[in-house]
Amino acid sequence: MTATTGLSFDEPPIFERGAPGRTGASLAPLDVPRVDPAGHFGPLARRTPAGLPEVSEPEAFRHFVRLSQWNFCIDSQLYPLGSCTMKYNPKINEWAARLPAFANLHPLMPDELAQGSLEVMHRLGRALAVVTGMDGSSLQPAAGAQGELTGLLMIRACQRADGRAPRKVLVPESAHGTNPASCTLAGLEAVSIPRSADGLLHPEQVARAIAEVGAGELCGLMITNPNTLGLFETHLPAVTELVHEAGGLVYGDGANTNAIMGRVRPGDLGIDVLHLNLHKTFTTPHGGGCPGSGPVLFKARLAPFQPSPVVVDTGSGLRLERDRPQSIGRVRAFQGNFGMFIRAYAYVCEMGGEGLALATSLAVLNARYLWSQLRGDFEVASSLPCMHEVVLSDERVQAETGVKTLDIAKRLLDYGFHAPTVYFPLVVHGALMIEPTESETKQTLDEFVAALRSILKEAHAEPELVKTAPHKTRVGRLDEARAARKPRLRWTRET
Ligand SMILES: *Cc1c(COP(=O)(O)O)cnc(C)c1O
Repeated sequence: MTATTGLSFDEPPIFERGAPGRTGASLAPLDVPRVDPAGHFGPLARRTPAGLPEVSEPEAFRHFVRLSQWNFCIDSQLYPLGSCTMKYNPKINEWAARLPAFANLHPLMPDELAQGSLEVMHRLGRALAVVTGMDGSSLQPAAGAQGELTGLLMIRACQRADGRAPRKVLVPESAHGTNPASCTLAGLEAVSIPRSADGLLHPEQVARAIAEVGAGELCGLMITNPNTLGLFETHLPAVTELVHEAGGLVYGDGANTNAIMGRVRPGDLGIDVLHLNLHKTFTTPHGGGCPGSGPVLFKARLAPFQPSPVVVDTGSGLRLERDRPQSIGRVRAFQGNFGMFIRAYAYVCEMGGEGLALATSLAVLNARYLWSQLRGDFEVASSLPCMHEVVLSDERVQAETGVKTLDIAKRLLDYGFHAPTVYFPLVVHGALMIEPTESETKQTLDEFVAALRSILKEAHAEPELVKTAPHKTRVGRLDEARAARKPRLRWTRET
């Protein structure tokens, strides 16, 4: 009888089809040589087996699921890590990034066959330029700090093209720590501007610093806005004008864009080049060693110096342009962390301009709610209302009980929350930097406030409990210095 289902069972069982010469019904696994007895790999061959664990699939699977459960993540609880914008990563991003046409594309595919992927890059770059009020974008840098280095190298290249090579960059104390580090890496010299009484950068301070540096020596200014005290730099237009008049360019650290997106554009404030962190503001995964992405956005004047290759629209399709004589060159293999572009683009499409502006408003509202709730319990770093993050100081409780900032952070783990950033910014003594983001409900924020208040009570009643926390996590206090100096990176049977 003929089958009516269309299924045919004439195919030989799959095990019989193996490699040439392996016919018959053998179910034996392929005996891949472990030490190359046939000598195919010559002197490169292993002399001893690789020492990999031999475990069954269920064992391997359980191992990784268990590790994932030990890991604290934004998918399980509030992660209020100030300065780092740990917001929810929508799962539709993951769906988009796993579409086979994107995920399986080889990075060396000819441009004609990669039009869809190039278009995503082109559209994302344009969307980010619109959000920031800049003229162009490069998606290549793999992190915020690498974006900083890229932007500074572009500034240097631009000034060299004008026949100048000034070296000094003004960096306010309220900038992120990566800013002065990036200056050094770019062969420039960071000149610190001390924190002002209200925490903002004032034109008089900048004028004074320019006079001290000498206009001929001024490469530019690096400014984080909102700054690391969570404050919006209201004097930016006047400040950037002073720098431009003195022949400098302004680098904007845009890692805190979640506080201003859709409300104000750095390009309108006189910023010449800035980076964004897709793994902060644009909901691509952050932490756990996941690839980051720190695109740079720039004004037209800096466009010739951007990393190459550049996606260009030829009118009859997109292509990667490599012949860019003034480019600073590549900063990253291939096109950057492409999977992150898909996720960020999915987020932008899902939100639209109004959605992005609403996210910003809710992020600021949540931070100000925490500020209003907690400023009676802790000292606040500034009397000005905060933007996306609130910076508290535990000076009083420390003086009264001997409990330290780190102890409070560790005790929060027992309450099921990730700790906020501590001891940063450096200009605030005993800093706790809390960024709730728009992802959190009022209920979660109230639970977090209640936990902090409860810890303050414990600090007075039972300080040892706080000083020896955490008590409920898998591991207690780790020797972080030793872990950094003597990391154990290899699998061993004992682990
Ligand atoms: C996170 C952050 C950076 C650095 O970004 P990475 O992606 O971690 O390199 C720079 N500046 C600010 C203000 C940040 O919050």
